[in-house]
Amino acid sequence: MLVDSHCHLDRLKLDQFDGGLDAVLALARDRGVHKFLCVGISLDNVERVVELAAAYSDVVCSVGVHPLDVESGLAEVDTLLALARKPGVVALGETGLDFYYSTDTKEIQRRSFTAHLQAAGQAGLPVIVHSRDAREETIDLIRAHGNPEHAGVLHCFTESWEMARAALDLNYYISLSGIVTFKNAAALRDVARRIPLDRLLVETDSPYLAPVPYRGKSNIPAYVREVAEFVADLRGLPFERLAEATTENFFRLFPRAI
Ligand SMILES: [Zn+2]
Ligand SMILES: [Zn+2]
Repeated sequence: MLVDSHCHLDRLKLDQFDGGLDAVLALARDRGVHKFLCVGISLDNVERVVELAAAYSDVVCSVGVHPLDVESGLAEVDTLLALARKPGVVALGETGLDFYYSTDTKEIQRRSFTAHLQAAGQAGLPVIVHSRDAREETIDLIRAHGNPEHAGVLHCFTESWEMARAALDLNYYISLSGIVTFKNAAALRDVARRIPLDRLLVETDSPYLAPVPYRGKSNIPAYVREVAEFVADLRGLPFERLAEATTENFFRLFPRAI
């Protein structure tokens, strides 16, 4: 069994699939994917991700405001706590810091991330963290406001071993996406080999970042299989072992997803 620990089911490009999302999820199940975490990105898509978690027994969701969506509406701690009580919600996020695509919203990103970390601590939920070009600040804010008991995940990880190490020390998990299969990702592959097996997750981040051999195409949750097979090979493990470990890790981190 495999889990897609991070996908945006409400954003998939479904036009090439007869049967829409039903067909896309069926395709993933046929390839051994039996749980999907549909990740919220703004206050505008909360209803939609909660609806999807209600519609499919193997879909759960998270609610939060992506660092690149903070201008669409900032979520305060109380709002997040209320959203966290909706059925099917297993985590807060995605939240975090993205100083690569946006530097003029730095301050508001910090405020938003801090609110998510505080709300997650109060709700007893893990946090899904997006971090780009903000290694030290991401770790500093987690250290200052995170709750090591419920921790979270650095999703779609592309940063250095030093950052991975610091996150692991804060009880965080590290999730690898299709980027690890890209030709130019040698440094990331070195990091991927070193992450302890009991702290590793796999994801698609679909519809973005399709793994090789689908690179450049629209991504779907079925391709988490390609990511997992690639990482298993990279670490010299049988695929089944990697699948089993990442699935166990997922349910340990997100106990409400069971
Ligand atoms: Zn992200
Ligand atoms: Zn995402």
